[in-house]
Amino acid sequence: MSDLTFHYVLDCPCGTTLTGLSEDEIVEVAFAHLREVHPDMADDYERDHVLFMARKLVRR
Ligand SMILES: [Zn+2]
Repeated sequence: MSDLTFHYVLDCPCGTTLTGLSEDEIVEVAFAHLREVHPDMADDYERDHVLFMARKLVRR
């Protein structure tokens, strides 16, 4: 399995688009964003929620 040609994109409701090159990275980026911008929401999300909302797209 290779993630080299894909990335993960997550559109936060606040309008920020988050991207990561792997599942681990998008989870990390999403939690960093939540903790910084939406600290009240950070505790409500888990890894599975982030991955459920993230879209896996072909990188261009
Ligand atoms: Zn946000």
